[in-house]
Amino acid sequence: MAQESETIAEARRQMEICNSCRYCEGYCAVFPAMAMRRSFAEADLTHLANLCHGCKGCYHACQYAPPHAFGINIPATFAEIRNETYAKHAWPGALGAMFERNGTVVALAASLGVALLLILTVALQDPAVLWSAQRGAGAFFRIIPHWLMIGLGVLTFGYAILAMAMGARSYWRATGGGGAFAPAPAAEAMVDIATMRNLGGGGHGCNDIDDSFSVRRRWLHQALMYGFLLCFAATCTGTIYHYLLGWTSPHAFFSLPVQFGTWGGVLMMIGAAGLAHVKVITDPGPVSRKVMGGEFAILGLLFLIAVTGLLLLVVRHTGAMGLMLAIHLGLVFAFFLVMPYSKMVHGVYRGIALLRNAQEKRRAATA
Ligand code: SF4
Ligand code: SF4
Repeated sequence: MAQESETIAEARRQMEICNSCRYCEGYCAVFPAMAMRRSFAEADLTHLANLCHGCKGCYHACQYAPPHAFGINIPATFAEIRNETYAKHAWPGALGAMFERNGTVVALAASLGVALLLILTVALQDPAVLWSAQRGAGAFFRIIPHWLMIGLGVLTFGYAILAMAMGARSYWRATGGGGAFAPAPAAEAMVDIATMRNLGGGGHGCNDIDDSFSVRRRWLHQALMYGFLLCFAATCTGTIYHYLLGWTSPHAFFSLPVQFGTWGGVLMMIGAAGLAHVKVITDPGPVSRKVMGGEFAILGLLFLIAVTGLLLLVVRHTGAMGLMLAIHLGLVFAFFLVMPYSKMVHGVYRGIALLRNAQEKRRAATA
């Protein structure tokens, strides 16, 4: 049996105190899920940590939080377990080490992605395309050849989906597997994800900054998630335009791909910048410094993707389009490659934790 980490042992100590105290029972889904357990195996603690959405409510309410000798700090301890989860279930396993210095990994991937796209562009095309204006249908492909753009996109995105699916399978098995598919818990988990209900703290909000309540993290996170999904919709509609309708990009400003991409980019920019700002000004007490680098780096990368995408729209009839397109696509492909080894995987594990929680609640209600 693999040896447990010190963080798991520390989380068990804290959960055993919480399970005797139970003051925070109504704060979030974690404490009722904790109360269903008498002991805390690694699988239980992994599940509870991924069910925690880091609202910090229990830290600000806790009479045993530092400087008390018990040193209860559930948000920081669970954040470290989540990071260990991402590393442990990474696929291929050896790449889990990328979570150790995650900020550096993400920043390096972004820089290499941009450098690679610039090198490929000048190697395959006349370097002048990087600063000379390209107009009309197919303008983008005179800078980055169509086969290269599609090939890199399919390879990097396909790899990200495969790696995250393998991680999800490993996590699901490690936290106990599950019975036959049931639509009701799956629907409950989907609603939780779509609305980010838990980040609302039951209506009054979470302790985003200090011991006062706010819903800003919920709205910013929703802006980022829906902005990301709109950008994905832009890519899907652009693909339909190209392959089914024979309409080649760049498309008109009021076309579906450009509208989805524009509003998606604006939302992503607001969400990424806002969440980074919350992290800067928040009370550092319930925060794990170990995971901060990776979190800032992925928010920075998402912000840069959004900004370069919007700038590409602004400069697309000028000589700056070539350079902006290469930078934007370099960042996007780097993002796809690094996605399974970044904070982005929290969506997968948190989704599974919400599904498992919905299943457990139903089992407990019928027991
Ligand atoms: S976090 Fe503190 S107050 Fe809340 S249940 Fe645990 S020990 Fe009790
Ligand atoms: S930080 Fe928030 S979500 Fe996490 S255990 Fe504490 S109260 Fe629950």
